[in-house]
Amino acid sequence: MSPVTHFFISWLVANSARMERRDRILVTAAGVIPDIDGIGVVADIFMRNSNEPFKWYQQFHHVLMHNLAFALVVTIVAFLLAKKRTFAASLAFVSFHLHLLGDIAGSAGPEGSFWSIPYFWPLSNVEFTWSGQWELNAWQNIVITAIAIGLSIFISWRRGYSPLEIFSMKADKFFVGVLKNRFG
Ligand SMILES: [Zn+2]
Repeated sequence: MSPVTHFFISWLVANSARMERRDRILVTAAGVIPDIDGIGVVADIFMRNSNEPFKWYQQFHHVLMHNLAFALVVTIVAFLLAKKRTFAASLAFVSFHLHLLGDIAGSAGPEGSFWSIPYFWPLSNVEFTWSGQWELNAWQNIVITAIAIGLSIFISWRRGYSPLEIFSMKADKFFVGVLKNRFG
């Protein structure tokens, strides 16, 4: 799934209980961070004209950070940085795994190639996938993203803070203000 979908789903996980902003940020980040292994796509763009282009994106996206080992690293970091340590770390673990599930559910390529996840990498190269996997731009992903955004807006209105709190408190306050003005 796209990082945008992961972001909203993770923010919802972070709001499944009452936590402070710092813990919400950690849990949200845990559900988005696996896709950082995809930024190698930038290196590929620069290398595309060389004799032996290094296909980072194809080789490593869904490998380096889409596995249990990295999930444990993320969980430990969340534990060290969070206020409600055990609770936030548990939700970070859940958020990370919802990302993996989302990718297995709907990240197929347009030519029918399935994304698979080497969950136990680097200990094992066995890859997991699902034969029912739908495409990255399939309607299912659009519906899931729309529902996640809708729920996020509802929670923002009810609780007085929004997913924008991750990036800017000012933007967050402004957005919540707009919601309160519009919906009371
Ligand atoms: Zn991913």
